Amino acid sequence: MRRPSARVNAALAALDRAELRKTPQRIAVVHALVDDTSHPTAQQIFDRLRRQMPTMSFATVYNTLAALERAGVCRSLRLSHDDSARFDPMVEPHDHAVCDRCGRVLDVPRARERAEIQEFRVRAVERVYRGECQQCQSIGGS
Ligand SMILES: [Zn+2]
Ligand SMILES: [Zn+2]
Repeated sequence: MRRPSARVNAALAALDRAELRKTPQRIAVVHALVDDTSHPTAQQIFDRLRRQMPTMSFATVYNTLAALERAGVCRSLRLSHDDSARFDPMVEPHDHAVCDRCGRVLDVPRARERAEIQEFRVRAVERVYRGECQQCQSIGGS
């Protein structure tokens, strides 16, 4: 059993602030998310947890993730309009690379430049690189 990381502790403190009781289900959601760099959807986290925890409900997963996001412990992103929200425990600004073949999402350090757009107030710059991940390249073919 790993010791709780600083991220886990920050997330649990966020549940307290949101006045969400730290039920075993919510704690499981926190643990599932904080070290997961695969940018899972709520559905993916739910599918994973419900195997170990049959009492888990999708609403619990979703509401816990939403509370963590409001508390700034994770963020959600949509990589295209029809993509469901993915949850990202890395809240520091960064970009993403998406594999066209398997859908894997990788974190990319933020490039420095910042665009100024006339008559538009920029809230955030989110860059998405699209291509093929290493694993898919090694499978090869087309
Ligand atoms: Zn891939
Ligand atoms: Zn990310």
